[in-house]
Amino acid sequence: MDIRGKKISVIGAVRSGLGAAKLAKKLGAIPFVSDSSSEKDLADSISVLNSESIAFECGAHTEKIYDCDLIVTSPGVPTNSAVLTNALKKNIKVVSEIEFASWFCKGSVISITGTNGKTTTTALMNYTLNQAGIKCYSAGNIGEAFSEIVLDVKENEFVSLETSSFQLDFIEQFKPHFSMILNITQDHLDRYNNNFDEYISAKIKITKNQKEEDFFIYNADDKNIKNNLKNKKVQKLAFSLLSEVPAGAFYKEGKIYFSWFGKISEICSASDLFIKGEHNIANTLPVLIIAKLLNVPHQKIRNAFSSFKGVEHRIEFVREFNGVEYYNDSKATNVDSVYVALKSFDKPLYLILGGKDKGNNYDQIKELVKQHVAKIYAIGSSAQKVYDYFNSIVLTEIKESLKACVEAGRNEAQPGTVVLLSPACASFDMFKNYEHRGKVFKEEVNKLV
Ligand code: ADP
Repeated sequence: MDIRGKKISVIGAVRSGLGAAKLAKKLGAIPFVSDSSSEKDLADSISVLNSESIAFECGAHTEKIYDCDLIVTSPGVPTNSAVLTNALKKNIKVVSEIEFASWFCKGSVISITGTNGKTTTTALMNYTLNQAGIKCYSAGNIGEAFSEIVLDVKENEFVSLETSSFQLDFIEQFKPHFSMILNITQDHLDRYNNNFDEYISAKIKITKNQKEEDFFIYNADDKNIKNNLKNKKVQKLAFSLLSEVPAGAFYKEGKIYFSWFGKISEICSASDLFIKGEHNIANTLPVLIIAKLLNVPHQKIRNAFSSFKGVEHRIEFVREFNGVEYYNDSKATNVDSVYVALKSFDKPLYLILGGKDKGNNYDQIKELVKQHVAKIYAIGSSAQKVYDYFNSIVLTEIKESLKACVEAGRNEAQPGTVVLLSPACASFDMFKNYEHRGKVFKEEVNKLV
Protein backbone atom coordinates (compact mmCIF):
# COMPACT_ATOMS: atom_id res chain seq x y z
CA MET A 1 0.00 0.00 0.00
CA ASP A 2 1.43 3.36 -0.99
CA ILE A 3 0.58 6.08 1.50
CA ARG A 4 3.20 8.60 0.36
CA GLY A 5 1.88 12.15 0.51
CA LYS A 6 -1.42 11.06 2.14
CA LYS A 7 -2.75 13.05 5.07
CA ILE A 8 -3.38 10.68 7.98
CA SER A 9 -5.06 11.76 11.21
CA VAL A 10 -4.24 9.56 14.17
CA ILE A 11 -6.62 9.57 17.15
CA GLY A 12 -4.87 8.92 20.46
CA ALA A 13 -1.30 9.88 21.29
CA VAL A 14 -0.20 7.01 23.49
CA ARG A 15 1.40 3.72 22.43
CA SER A 16 -0.65 2.63 19.41
CA GLY A 17 -1.27 6.18 18.18
CA LEU A 18 2.37 7.15 18.51
CA GLY A 19 3.41 3.97 16.71
CA ALA A 20 0.96 4.59 13.87
CA ALA A 21 2.03 8.22 13.46
CA LYS A 22 5.71 7.29 13.39
CA LEU A 23 5.04 4.53 10.85
CA ALA A 24 3.02 6.90 8.66
CA LYS A 25 5.84 9.43 8.76
CA LYS A 26 8.47 6.81 7.91
CA LEU A 27 6.43 5.74 4.90
CA GLY A 28 6.19 9.27 3.54
CA ALA A 29 2.66 10.18 4.69
CA ILE A 30 1.76 13.35 6.60
CA PRO A 31 0.48 12.36 10.05
CA PHE A 32 -1.47 14.59 12.41
CA VAL A 33 -2.10 13.31 15.94
CA SER A 34 -5.05 14.34 18.10
CA ASP A 35 -5.67 13.41 21.73
CA SER A 36 -8.26 14.81 24.13
CA SER A 37 -6.02 14.38 27.20
CA SER A 38 -4.16 17.35 28.61
CA GLU A 39 -0.67 18.44 27.65
CA LYS A 40 0.48 17.56 31.17
CA ASP A 41 -0.81 13.97 30.93
CA LEU A 42 0.75 13.56 27.51
CA ALA A 43 4.17 15.01 28.34
CA ASP A 44 6.09 11.86 27.32
CA SER A 45 4.19 11.48 24.04
CA ILE A 46 4.63 15.14 23.20
CA SER A 47 8.39 14.92 23.48
CA VAL A 48 8.36 11.95 21.05
CA LEU A 49 6.08 13.80 18.62
CA ASN A 50 8.29 16.90 18.76
CA SER A 51 11.44 14.90 18.21
CA GLU A 52 9.83 13.19 15.20
CA SER A 53 8.49 16.53 13.90
CA ILE A 54 4.92 15.18 13.88
CA ALA A 55 2.11 17.76 14.11
CA PHE A 56 -0.39 17.24 16.94
CA GLU A 57 -3.09 18.75 19.10
CA CYS A 58 -4.14 17.85 22.65
CA GLY A 59 -6.80 18.85 25.17
CA ALA A 60 -9.62 18.39 22.62
CA HIS A 61 -10.32 17.02 19.16
CA THR A 62 -10.81 19.90 16.69
CA GLU A 63 -12.06 20.08 13.11
CA LYS A 64 -8.44 19.84 11.91
CA ILE A 65 -8.72 16.07 12.25
CA TYR A 66 -11.14 15.78 9.37
CA ASP A 67 -8.80 17.40 6.85
CA CYS A 68 -7.31 14.04 5.88
CA ASP A 69 -7.44 10.99 3.58
CA LEU A 70 -7.59 8.47 6.40
CA ILE A 71 -8.10 8.22 10.15
CA VAL A 72 -6.18 5.68 12.21
CA THR A 73 -7.69 5.16 15.65
CA SER A 74 -6.23 3.78 18.87
CA PRO A 75 -7.91 1.00 20.90
CA GLY A 76 -8.59 3.38 23.81
CA VAL A 77 -10.95 5.51 21.72
CA PRO A 78 -14.55 4.25 22.03
CA THR A 79 -16.09 3.13 18.75
CA ASN A 80 -19.14 5.29 19.40
CA SER A 81 -17.18 8.41 20.38
CA ALA A 82 -18.12 11.70 18.73
CA VAL A 83 -14.79 12.03 16.94
CA LEU A 84 -15.21 8.69 15.12
CA THR A 85 -18.92 8.97 14.42
CA ASN A 86 -18.35 12.45 12.96
CA ALA A 87 -15.58 11.10 10.75
CA LEU A 88 -17.81 8.30 9.47
CA LYS A 89 -20.60 10.82 8.77
CA LYS A 90 -18.13 12.79 6.69
CA ASN A 91 -17.31 9.57 4.79
CA ILE A 92 -13.73 9.49 5.99
CA LYS A 93 -12.25 6.03 6.15
CA VAL A 94 -11.46 4.97 9.75
CA VAL A 95 -9.17 2.03 10.50
CA SER A 96 -7.66 0.66 13.69
CA GLU A 97 -3.94 0.75 14.35
CA ILE A 98 -3.52 -3.01 13.72
CA GLU A 99 -5.36 -2.74 10.40
CA PHE A 100 -3.05 0.10 9.40
CA ALA A 101 0.14 -1.70 10.48
CA SER A 102 -0.96 -4.95 8.80
CA TRP A 103 -0.85 -3.25 5.37
CA PHE A 104 2.93 -3.18 5.70
CA CYS A 105 3.56 -6.59 7.28
CA LYS A 106 5.65 -9.03 5.24
CA GLY A 107 5.56 -11.82 7.83
CA SER A 108 2.72 -13.99 9.17
CA VAL A 109 0.45 -12.65 11.86
CA ILE A 110 -0.80 -14.80 14.74
CA SER A 111 -3.68 -12.73 16.08
CA ILE A 112 -4.77 -13.60 19.62
CA THR A 113 -8.01 -12.38 21.13
CA GLY A 114 -10.30 -13.40 23.98
CA THR A 115 -11.73 -11.84 27.10
CA ASN A 116 -9.00 -13.28 29.34
CA GLY A 117 -5.55 -14.72 28.80
CA LYS A 118 -4.45 -12.66 25.79
CA THR A 119 -1.21 -11.33 27.24
CA THR A 120 -0.13 -14.68 28.68
CA THR A 121 -0.90 -16.55 25.45
CA THR A 122 0.75 -13.91 23.26
CA ALA A 123 3.91 -14.09 25.39
CA LEU A 124 3.94 -17.90 25.46
CA MET A 125 3.41 -18.04 21.68
CA ASN A 126 6.33 -15.69 21.13
CA TYR A 127 8.52 -17.57 23.60
CA THR A 128 7.75 -21.02 22.19
CA LEU A 129 8.52 -20.07 18.58
CA ASN A 130 11.72 -18.22 19.44
CA GLN A 131 12.88 -21.12 21.62
CA ALA A 132 12.32 -23.38 18.63
CA GLY A 133 14.46 -21.12 16.43
CA ILE A 134 11.54 -19.51 14.59
CA LYS A 135 11.84 -15.72 14.65
CA CYS A 136 8.75 -14.21 16.21
CA TYR A 137 7.93 -10.72 17.53
CA SER A 138 5.30 -9.98 20.14
CA ALA A 139 3.23 -6.84 19.77
CA GLY A 140 -0.17 -5.31 20.39
CA ASN A 141 -1.32 -4.52 23.90
CA ILE A 142 1.75 -6.35 25.12
CA GLY A 143 5.03 -4.42 24.88
CA GLU A 144 5.24 -2.49 21.64
CA ALA A 145 2.53 -1.45 19.21
CA PHE A 146 2.29 -3.47 15.97
CA SER A 147 3.16 -0.28 14.04
CA GLU A 148 6.44 0.04 15.93
CA ILE A 149 7.82 -3.34 14.88
CA VAL A 150 6.07 -4.08 11.60
CA LEU A 151 8.82 -2.87 9.29
CA ASP A 152 11.36 -5.14 11.03
CA VAL A 153 9.37 -8.31 10.28
CA LYS A 154 10.72 -10.35 7.37
CA GLU A 155 8.78 -12.64 5.06
CA ASN A 156 9.42 -15.91 6.89
CA GLU A 157 8.98 -14.38 10.35
CA PHE A 158 5.99 -14.20 12.71
CA VAL A 159 4.19 -11.69 14.87
CA SER A 160 2.37 -12.87 17.98
CA LEU A 161 -0.21 -10.09 18.17
CA GLU A 162 -2.31 -9.42 21.24
CA THR A 163 -5.54 -8.19 19.70
CA SER A 164 -8.29 -6.50 21.66
CA SER A 165 -11.83 -6.37 20.34
CA PHE A 166 -11.44 -2.59 20.14
CA GLN A 167 -8.69 -3.09 17.57
CA LEU A 168 -11.00 -5.40 15.61
CA ASP A 169 -13.85 -2.88 15.53
CA PHE A 170 -12.17 -1.01 12.69
CA ILE A 171 -10.57 -3.63 10.46
CA GLU A 172 -11.05 -3.91 6.70
CA GLN A 173 -8.39 -6.16 5.19
CA PHE A 174 -6.68 -7.43 8.34
CA LYS A 175 -6.00 -11.09 7.48
CA PRO A 176 -3.97 -13.01 10.03
CA HIS A 177 -2.59 -16.34 8.83
CA PHE A 178 -3.44 -17.71 12.27
CA SER A 179 -6.15 -16.32 14.50
CA MET A 180 -7.49 -17.49 17.81
CA ILE A 181 -10.24 -16.76 20.29
CA LEU A 182 -9.41 -17.96 23.78
CA ASN A 183 -12.77 -17.35 25.44
CA ILE A 184 -15.63 -14.86 25.43
CA THR A 185 -17.23 -13.80 28.68
CA GLN A 186 -19.17 -10.70 29.64
CA ASP A 187 -16.73 -7.80 29.93
CA HIS A 188 -16.24 -4.38 28.39
CA LEU A 189 -19.95 -4.26 27.64
CA ASP A 190 -19.91 -0.52 28.26
CA ARG A 191 -18.08 -0.20 24.92
CA TYR A 192 -20.70 -2.31 23.12
CA ASN A 193 -23.94 -0.58 24.14
CA ASN A 194 -24.33 -3.25 26.86
CA ASN A 195 -25.00 -5.72 24.10
CA PHE A 196 -23.19 -9.05 24.52
CA ASP A 197 -23.93 -10.11 20.93
CA GLU A 198 -22.17 -7.01 19.65
CA TYR A 199 -19.12 -7.86 21.76
CA ILE A 200 -19.13 -11.45 20.43
CA SER A 201 -19.41 -10.19 16.85
CA ALA A 202 -16.46 -7.85 17.42
CA LYS A 203 -14.31 -10.79 18.51
CA ILE A 204 -15.50 -13.11 15.73
CA LYS A 205 -14.42 -10.43 13.25
CA ILE A 206 -10.88 -11.71 13.72
CA THR A 207 -11.75 -14.35 11.07
CA LYS A 208 -13.45 -11.91 8.67
CA ASN A 209 -10.80 -11.96 5.91
CA GLN A 210 -9.30 -15.38 6.54
CA LYS A 211 -9.38 -17.85 3.63
CA GLU A 212 -8.81 -21.58 3.01
CA GLU A 213 -5.07 -21.20 3.51
CA ASP A 214 -5.52 -19.66 6.99
CA PHE A 215 -6.24 -21.18 10.40
CA PHE A 216 -8.70 -20.25 13.10
CA ILE A 217 -8.15 -21.80 16.52
CA TYR A 218 -10.94 -21.65 19.05
CA ASN A 219 -11.97 -22.81 22.48
CA ALA A 220 -14.44 -25.64 21.90
CA ASP A 221 -15.63 -25.41 25.51
CA ASP A 222 -16.99 -21.91 24.89
CA LYS A 223 -20.38 -21.96 23.20
CA ASN A 224 -20.26 -18.22 22.60
CA ILE A 225 -17.57 -18.85 20.00
CA LYS A 226 -18.83 -22.07 18.43
CA ASN A 227 -22.38 -20.84 17.89
CA ASN A 228 -21.31 -17.63 16.20
CA LEU A 229 -18.75 -18.74 13.65
CA LYS A 230 -19.68 -17.36 10.26
CA ASN A 231 -16.56 -17.74 8.15
CA LYS A 232 -17.00 -21.13 6.47
CA LYS A 233 -13.72 -21.04 4.53
CA VAL A 234 -11.00 -20.78 7.15
CA GLN A 235 -9.55 -24.04 8.51
CA LYS A 236 -10.86 -24.50 12.02
CA LEU A 237 -8.97 -26.22 14.81
CA ALA A 238 -10.25 -26.56 18.34
CA PHE A 239 -8.88 -26.89 21.84
CA SER A 240 -10.62 -28.18 24.93
CA LEU A 241 -10.07 -28.83 28.60
CA LEU A 242 -13.16 -31.03 28.73
CA SER A 243 -13.11 -33.44 25.81
CA GLU A 244 -11.02 -34.85 22.99
CA VAL A 245 -11.12 -32.88 19.74
CA PRO A 246 -10.67 -34.39 16.26
CA ALA A 247 -8.13 -31.75 15.21
CA GLY A 248 -6.34 -29.49 17.64
CA ALA A 249 -5.27 -29.91 21.24
CA PHE A 250 -6.87 -31.12 24.43
CA TYR A 251 -6.27 -31.81 28.09
CA LYS A 252 -7.20 -35.10 29.68
CA GLU A 253 -6.40 -36.62 33.06
CA GLY A 254 -3.34 -34.50 33.73
CA LYS A 255 -1.90 -34.74 30.22
CA ILE A 256 -1.76 -32.42 27.21
CA TYR A 257 -2.33 -33.91 23.76
CA PHE A 258 -2.14 -32.84 20.12
CA SER A 259 -4.75 -34.40 17.90
CA TRP A 260 -4.63 -34.64 14.12
CA PHE A 261 -7.53 -36.50 12.49
CA GLY A 262 -7.20 -39.79 14.33
CA LYS A 263 -3.56 -39.49 15.36
CA ILE A 264 -3.18 -38.44 18.97
CA SER A 265 0.23 -37.51 20.44
CA GLU A 266 0.97 -36.92 24.09
CA ILE A 267 3.03 -33.73 24.43
CA CYS A 268 3.56 -33.31 28.17
CA SER A 269 1.95 -33.42 31.59
CA ALA A 270 0.14 -30.38 32.89
CA SER A 271 2.50 -30.51 35.85
CA ASP A 272 5.41 -29.83 33.45
CA LEU A 273 4.08 -26.31 32.92
CA PHE A 274 5.75 -23.73 35.11
CA ILE A 275 2.72 -21.42 34.95
CA LYS A 276 -0.03 -22.43 37.32
CA GLY A 277 -3.70 -23.17 37.04
CA GLU A 278 -6.23 -24.73 34.71
CA HIS A 279 -6.72 -21.40 32.92
CA ASN A 280 -3.07 -21.51 31.94
CA ILE A 281 -3.47 -25.01 30.50
CA ALA A 282 -6.21 -23.49 28.36
CA ASN A 283 -3.76 -20.76 27.29
CA THR A 284 -1.15 -23.36 26.39
CA LEU A 285 -3.31 -25.50 24.10
CA PRO A 286 -3.72 -23.02 21.20
CA VAL A 287 0.02 -22.31 21.30
CA LEU A 288 0.65 -26.04 21.00
CA ILE A 289 -1.57 -26.19 17.90
CA ILE A 290 0.35 -23.44 16.12
CA ALA A 291 3.73 -24.85 17.14
CA LYS A 292 2.67 -28.21 15.62
CA LEU A 293 1.38 -26.55 12.44
CA LEU A 294 4.86 -25.02 12.14
CA ASN A 295 6.46 -28.45 12.67
CA VAL A 296 8.14 -27.68 15.99
CA PRO A 297 9.29 -31.02 17.47
CA HIS A 298 7.53 -32.23 20.64
CA GLN A 299 10.68 -31.98 22.75
CA LYS A 300 11.13 -28.30 21.91
CA ILE A 301 7.49 -27.58 22.71
CA ARG A 302 7.84 -29.38 26.03
CA ASN A 303 11.01 -27.45 26.89
CA ALA A 304 9.37 -24.14 26.09
CA PHE A 305 6.26 -24.91 28.12
CA SER A 306 8.25 -25.97 31.16
CA SER A 307 10.64 -23.01 31.06
CA PHE A 308 8.15 -20.22 30.29
CA LYS A 309 7.90 -18.31 33.55
CA GLY A 310 4.68 -16.46 32.77
CA VAL A 311 4.07 -12.75 32.55
CA GLU A 312 4.82 -10.29 35.33
CA HIS A 313 1.96 -9.64 37.78
CA ARG A 314 -0.08 -12.69 36.71
CA ILE A 315 0.26 -15.36 39.42
CA GLU A 316 3.96 -14.53 39.26
CA PHE A 317 6.23 -16.51 41.57
CA VAL A 318 8.33 -14.02 43.53
CA ARG A 319 10.37 -16.13 45.94
CA GLU A 320 10.29 -18.66 48.73
CA PHE A 321 11.18 -17.54 52.23
CA ASN A 322 11.21 -19.85 55.27
CA GLY A 323 9.23 -22.46 53.35
CA VAL A 324 6.51 -19.97 52.37
CA GLU A 325 5.98 -19.12 48.68
CA TYR A 326 5.10 -15.56 47.69
CA TYR A 327 3.08 -14.88 44.52
CA ASN A 328 2.23 -11.57 42.85
CA ASP A 329 -1.13 -11.55 41.02
CA SER A 330 -1.57 -7.78 41.01
CA LYS A 331 -3.23 -7.97 37.55
CA ALA A 332 -6.20 -9.67 39.27
CA THR A 333 -8.31 -6.52 39.33
CA ASN A 334 -11.68 -8.31 39.38
CA VAL A 335 -13.32 -11.19 41.22
CA ASP A 336 -13.14 -13.52 38.16
CA SER A 337 -9.36 -13.31 38.20
CA VAL A 338 -9.17 -14.10 41.90
CA TYR A 339 -11.42 -17.08 41.23
CA VAL A 340 -8.93 -18.58 38.74
CA ALA A 341 -6.02 -17.73 41.05
CA LEU A 342 -7.61 -19.51 44.05
CA LYS A 343 -8.23 -22.56 41.88
CA SER A 344 -4.56 -22.62 40.88
CA PHE A 345 -3.19 -23.48 44.34
CA ASP A 346 -3.52 -26.59 46.45
CA LYS A 347 -1.62 -25.14 49.43
CA PRO A 348 -3.24 -23.00 52.17
CA LEU A 349 -3.27 -19.34 51.20
CA TYR A 350 -2.71 -16.05 52.99
CA LEU A 351 -4.62 -13.83 50.61
CA ILE A 352 -4.12 -10.08 50.23
CA LEU A 353 -7.42 -8.68 49.03
CA GLY A 354 -8.77 -5.15 48.50
CA GLY A 355 -8.04 -1.85 46.80
CA LYS A 356 -10.32 0.38 44.77
CA ASP A 357 -13.61 -1.51 44.66
CA LYS A 358 -15.50 -1.78 41.35
CA GLY A 359 -18.80 -2.91 42.84
CA ASN A 360 -17.40 -6.35 43.66
CA ASN A 361 -19.68 -9.20 44.60
CA TYR A 362 -17.62 -11.81 46.44
CA ASP A 363 -20.25 -14.57 46.37
CA GLN A 364 -18.41 -16.19 43.43
CA ILE A 365 -15.28 -16.87 45.51
CA LYS A 366 -16.90 -17.50 48.89
CA GLU A 367 -16.69 -21.31 48.68
CA LEU A 368 -13.13 -21.29 47.30
CA VAL A 369 -12.03 -18.95 50.08
CA LYS A 370 -13.56 -21.32 52.63
CA GLN A 371 -11.63 -24.24 51.10
CA HIS A 372 -8.25 -22.66 50.33
CA VAL A 373 -7.67 -19.55 52.42
CA ALA A 374 -6.15 -19.59 55.92
CA LYS A 375 -6.34 -15.83 56.40
CA ILE A 376 -7.23 -12.67 54.50
CA TYR A 377 -5.30 -9.43 54.80
CA ALA A 378 -7.64 -6.62 53.71
CA ILE A 379 -6.10 -3.47 52.24
CA GLY A 380 -6.97 -0.20 50.55
CA SER A 381 -10.15 1.83 50.38
CA SER A 382 -12.27 -1.34 50.28
CA ALA A 383 -10.59 -2.95 53.31
CA GLN A 384 -13.69 -2.52 55.46
CA LYS A 385 -15.96 -4.02 52.78
CA VAL A 386 -13.63 -7.02 52.45
CA TYR A 387 -13.52 -7.38 56.23
CA ASP A 388 -17.31 -7.20 56.60
CA TYR A 389 -17.87 -9.82 53.89
CA PHE A 390 -15.22 -12.36 54.88
CA ASN A 391 -14.80 -11.94 58.61
CA SER A 392 -17.45 -14.54 59.47
CA ILE A 393 -16.02 -17.02 56.92
CA VAL A 394 -12.28 -16.90 57.53
CA LEU A 395 -9.77 -15.06 59.75
CA THR A 396 -9.62 -11.53 58.32
CA GLU A 397 -7.53 -8.56 59.36
CA ILE A 398 -7.30 -5.04 58.01
CA LYS A 399 -3.75 -3.87 57.17
CA GLU A 400 -2.69 -0.36 56.30
CA SER A 401 -0.10 -1.23 53.63
CA LEU A 402 1.34 -4.00 51.47
CA LYS A 403 4.46 -3.82 53.64
CA ALA A 404 2.33 -4.62 56.69
CA CYS A 405 0.73 -7.57 54.83
CA VAL A 406 4.10 -9.01 53.88
CA GLU A 407 5.36 -8.62 57.44
CA ALA A 408 2.25 -10.29 58.82
CA GLY A 409 2.70 -13.09 56.28
CA ARG A 410 6.29 -13.57 57.41
CA ASN A 411 5.19 -13.84 61.05
CA GLU A 412 2.05 -15.90 60.56
CA ALA A 413 2.31 -18.10 57.44
CA GLN A 414 3.52 -21.63 58.12
CA PRO A 415 6.01 -23.50 55.90
CA GLY A 416 4.13 -25.14 53.03
CA THR A 417 1.73 -22.23 52.63
CA VAL A 418 1.49 -19.38 50.13
CA VAL A 419 1.18 -15.62 50.52
CA LEU A 420 -0.76 -14.39 47.49
CA LEU A 421 -1.47 -10.82 46.38
CA SER A 422 -4.63 -11.21 44.27
CA PRO A 423 -6.60 -8.11 45.20
CA ALA A 424 -9.80 -8.30 43.07
CA CYS A 425 -9.71 -4.51 42.91
CA ALA A 426 -8.17 -1.67 40.98
CA SER A 427 -5.04 -0.15 42.44
CA PHE A 428 -5.65 3.58 42.07
CA ASP A 429 -6.50 4.17 45.74
CA MET A 430 -2.88 3.47 46.79
CA PHE A 431 -0.83 3.04 43.61
CA LYS A 432 -0.32 4.44 40.11
CA ASN A 433 -1.52 1.24 38.47
CA TYR A 434 -1.49 -2.52 38.96
CA GLU A 435 2.13 -2.75 37.79
CA HIS A 436 3.19 -0.31 40.50
CA ARG A 437 1.25 -2.28 43.12
CA GLY A 438 2.91 -5.54 42.03
CA LYS A 439 6.33 -3.95 42.05
CA VAL A 440 5.89 -2.61 45.59
CA PHE A 441 4.73 -6.05 46.75
CA LYS A 442 7.75 -7.74 45.17
CA GLU A 443 10.13 -5.20 46.69
CA GLU A 444 8.71 -5.91 50.15
CA VAL A 445 8.94 -9.66 49.61
CA ASN A 446 12.50 -9.41 48.36
CA LYS A 447 13.47 -7.41 51.45
CA LEU A 448 12.58 -10.30 53.78
CA VAL A 449 15.67 -11.59 55.54
P1 ADP B 1 -5.59 -10.37 29.22
O1 ADP B 1 -4.42 -9.84 28.46
O2 ADP B 1 -6.65 -10.94 28.32
O3 ADP B 1 -6.11 -9.44 30.27
P2 ADP B 1 -3.79 -11.91 30.92
O4 ADP B 1 -2.96 -12.98 30.34
O5 ADP B 1 -3.14 -10.61 31.24
O6 ADP B 1 -5.06 -11.68 30.00
O7 ADP B 1 -4.49 -12.45 32.24
C1 ADP B 1 -5.27 -11.58 33.02
C2 ADP B 1 -5.99 -12.35 34.10
O8 ADP B 1 -7.01 -13.14 33.48
C3 ADP B 1 -5.10 -13.34 34.83
O9 ADP B 1 -4.59 -12.78 36.01
C4 ADP B 1 -6.04 -14.48 35.13
O10 ADP B 1 -6.68 -14.20 36.35
C5 ADP B 1 -7.08 -14.42 34.07
N1 ADP B 1 -6.92 -15.42 33.00
C6 ADP B 1 -5.81 -15.65 32.24
N2 ADP B 1 -6.05 -16.61 31.34
C7 ADP B 1 -7.34 -16.99 31.50
C8 ADP B 1 -8.18 -17.94 30.85
N3 ADP B 1 -7.75 -18.68 29.83
N4 ADP B 1 -9.45 -18.06 31.31
C9 ADP B 1 -9.90 -17.31 32.33
N5 ADP B 1 -9.17 -16.40 32.98
C10 ADP B 1 -7.89 -16.24 32.57
